[in-house]
Amino acid sequence: MADVRRPGSGLPSRRPAPEPDARKHVIAEYRHAMQQVTCVCGWVGSSESPDGRTSDWSRHVTASRSGQG
Ligand SMILES: [Zn+2]
Repeated sequence: MADVRRPGSGLPSRRPAPEPDARKHVIAEYRHAMQQVTCVCGWVGSSESPDGRTSDWSRHVTASRSGQG
């Protein structure tokens, strides 16, 4: 019987983390100092964008979108 409510908070308790969608490539881990991104699919690369637009990461996402539908 764990019916504990925190005072001053009407928010429900924590939800479990949503299952990662294998079809969607999102950042699972981001190391800011190294600008290294780990994708949920296991891809690891750089998010550094010399031109401010594209990066290894953005190319990975783009390639994954067009490569499989
Ligand atoms: Zn990926």
